[in-house]
Amino acid sequence: MSQQDSYIDRPWMDPEAEPFIKIQGITKHFDDFIAVDNIDLEIYKGELFSLLGGSGCGKTTLLRMLAGFETPSAGRIFIDGIDMTDIPPYQRPVNMMFQSYALFPHMSVEKNIAYGLNRDGIDKHEVKKRVEEILEMVELGPFGKRKPHQLSGGQRQRVALARALVKRPKVLLLDEPLGALDKRLREQTQFELMNIQSELGITFVVVTHDQEEAMTLSTRIAVMDTGRFVQTGTPTEIYEYPESRLIASFIGNTNIFEGRITKNSADHVTVRAKNPECDIRIDHGSSVPEGTKVWVSVRPEKIKLSNTPPVTKAPNQLRGIVSNIGYLGRLSTYHVKVEGDTNIEVTSPNQIRPKDGAHAFDWDDEVFLSWDDSSAAVLTK
Ligand code: ATP
Repeated sequence: MSQQDSYIDRPWMDPEAEPFIKIQGITKHFDDFIAVDNIDLEIYKGELFSLLGGSGCGKTTLLRMLAGFETPSAGRIFIDGIDMTDIPPYQRPVNMMFQSYALFPHMSVEKNIAYGLNRDGIDKHEVKKRVEEILEMVELGPFGKRKPHQLSGGQRQRVALARALVKRPKVLLLDEPLGALDKRLREQTQFELMNIQSELGITFVVVTHDQEEAMTLSTRIAVMDTGRFVQTGTPTEIYEYPESRLIASFIGNTNIFEGRITKNSADHVTVRAKNPECDIRIDHGSSVPEGTKVWVSVRPEKIKLSNTPPVTKAPNQLRGIVSNIGYLGRLSTYHVKVEGDTNIEVTSPNQIRPKDGAHAFDWDDEVFLSWDDSSAAVLTK
């Protein structure tokens, strides 16, 4: 495999690839409130890029600036090499799918989808062909004559998607696209959305506050907080190598240990944690010197539980008492009280069916916790 081939699914790694969307120093003020604060971003063709963050962090405002519905206070936006900053929304090669879907209630599914094409004056045979094609793609072939109120939430969501895709935009912007769906439908639709996106090769930019959705869908994620990006990376990078406590706790659950670096070498770091006091060994070096205060993140699913004490004393070991159990079916969550009155969260898959309600580890059991050197991440902020 050539170096170029290895970049096919990861164009952001390719030093020669040109970004499809280039955002330079974009800022948005509403009076003296800064909603988006000097953001730079490059998105590559065919990516499914997610803007993830809590309510009010500025993700919709950024998306609306990409669509042209909001004028930036500063900065520039380029799409496919063309400066779009002063171009009105209808002249941008961009379409937006809104949170509310905004389907016309009195029009059939077909007419809803055809609306934008008819308005653009496209030949009616071409419109018919394109509507049929897109209805097939979103698996709504037999539903063309129905009105929106005769559809389920998931079907309405797919009509909205079809309506946005039928104009063949170069970029599709989606604001909480699956927000109205229940959990099961949401999961199913996530995969449909990914399939449609990869089939069409359109660049998607998705706004979501749902971390699992962002993890499932995205090629890359930018996590936003108060108008800025706090970390940008692939789902794995963000989950496994968070750069701060904020990211580690925002994406999934984690246990954070505060301590100081006692040894820092090229291939590992040792941290002496307090509350609980223990040594934590991590299999990668850190940029900060020995003695520095740091935090270590260890995900609940990376910790092993055992009823028997370890035979040798080593780093990454703790002893505690089970103080709480949450049975979630496919896995259980255990809270283990360790020295310093600290609760450590551990999740464990339920590979064996509990007999008579008895869990593998019960309330008040003494348990031993351990994890691998590769399971922890050092956080410097
Ligand atoms: P949510 O997930 O709740 O939709 P968001 O991250 O998409 O949140 P934005 O809609 O981008 O957030 O809003 C960012 C901030 O800008 C918020 O504090 C919001 O109140 C403010 N804001 C957005 N639009 C306006 C406006 N037209 N005038 C004044 N303030 C605004």
